[in-house]
Amino acid sequence: MTERAVLIEGGCVYPADRSDSVISRGSVLVVGEHISAVGSVEEVRSAVAGLDVAVRDDLEVVDARAMMVLPGLVNGHWHDMFAMGFPLRGALRPAADRADEIGFFGGGGDMHTISRTFDSFGGLIEAMTPDEAYAIAQYSMWTQLRGGVTTIGDVGSLNRPHEMVRAALDLGIRYSTTTWAGDAVCPLGGDRYERTRDTDSVLSEVEDLLRQCDSDTTGRIRCRPSIAYVTNMTDELGLGFADLARRHNVGFATHVGAVRNEPELLRTYYGTTGVRRLHDLGLLNDKLMAAHCAFVDDEERRLLLEAGVHISHSPGKYGPAGESAITETGAVPALRRAGLDVSLSTDGASLPNAGMVETMRAAWLAYNEMAASQIEVLPTDALAMATRLAAKGLQWSDELGSLEPGKQADLVLVRADDWRYVLNPRPLESFLWLGGSADVDTVMVAGRTLIAGGEPVGVSYAELRDGYLDALGSFTTRCLRVPGDVVGGILDGVAR
Ligand SMILES: [Zn+2]
Repeated sequence: MTERAVLIEGGCVYPADRSDSVISRGSVLVVGEHISAVGSVEEVRSAVAGLDVAVRDDLEVVDARAMMVLPGLVNGHWHDMFAMGFPLRGALRPAADRADEIGFFGGGGDMHTISRTFDSFGGLIEAMTPDEAYAIAQYSMWTQLRGGVTTIGDVGSLNRPHEMVRAALDLGIRYSTTTWAGDAVCPLGGDRYERTRDTDSVLSEVEDLLRQCDSDTTGRIRCRPSIAYVTNMTDELGLGFADLARRHNVGFATHVGAVRNEPELLRTYYGTTGVRRLHDLGLLNDKLMAAHCAFVDDEERRLLLEAGVHISHSPGKYGPAGESAITETGAVPALRRAGLDVSLSTDGASLPNAGMVETMRAAWLAYNEMAASQIEVLPTDALAMATRLAAKGLQWSDELGSLEPGKQADLVLVRADDWRYVLNPRPLESFLWLGGSADVDTVMVAGRTLIAGGEPVGVSYAELRDGYLDALGSFTTRCLRVPGDVVGGILDGVAR
């Protein structure tokens, strides 16, 4: 059987390579799972002429003259929280509800509530059935894919990891999995953490998952250990993670420095602050993905720089959650200027939230406003932060993150021929200003087209949605104890 070959011809190609090149009328040739050529229309036509006759005879040609061609978006810090679609700012709210309260992440953040809430997720995950987990994961991941995300980096989900891997495999999306780990909580009014789980069983759950993912043959599944929050990790667990990451040669991911009272709280409950703890536990190195990283002191900034840590920033989410992780300390833009890799990510929510496109916009606008400079983050910088740099943060940049020969054929096509693009020679700029996740037209992962014309290929959207709603209904009634008639009434109101 000959390999499938696809020529995407005549588009405005943004390879997101190290030189930030842009090919205003270019093409990409895909053969099998890989990118075979990228360049001007003429250059790629000569690459086509060099293909085996059998491959060339079956060549599919995609007319991309009205399109932008981007690398698949890499979302390195994400959580599947769709199981909480009812309680967490979700379906239980009436449309006219304005009674929002500051809390959790807003107003500087409430670390006690975060610590307690995150600790409670373990029991909910255990109570979820495999079928519920699979259906919820598939829909949640599909919303990412629909917005152009070809690679997800999980940092802990309210879902079952083995079912999530199965959902990703069936959907065709690339997925770095993890567990919802934690073995401690910081109770209000106390001065020492309380252990809530057996450390060894938390570690062996991660190691089982690492072993399963080591034997993956598709190339689309990976695993890294992560912690729900530095507040919920004993030193024993941190040391165990460092050992696991070393033995399996993988990175580690955590949230750190996300909220204002975290340093003070960590000093009280663990004797030292987040970045220092990670350093002392052997987790602070160039394979660490640190999410948020806003509330760090001068010495911690130096430790982060010396270790070459990767920061994943989620500016599309900060406004709706009331987080001040960009402007209050300015730490992340400053660390980026000082040379650290900063990538963009969506973080997680219980409903579809800002996707990677909206997050690129938020970074472009917010970093520039803060720096009083329109060149602090160019649109092409935002794209690199959402693709090449994010792949680097997942230790996956040898295969992903840019459109270059030899890399995996993960790419996104966006139409760029309507009123928003007239006379703007830089379509990416118009897209980040006036576009969004819903403008993504085509998504390809490993040479396989998974979304075309905004619709899923080979799977029915209605089936994905109905499977999700049914699973969410049973999980919410049984595990979250929302009365069945309330859940049923809301689900009956969803247009199907
Ligand atoms: Zn997160």
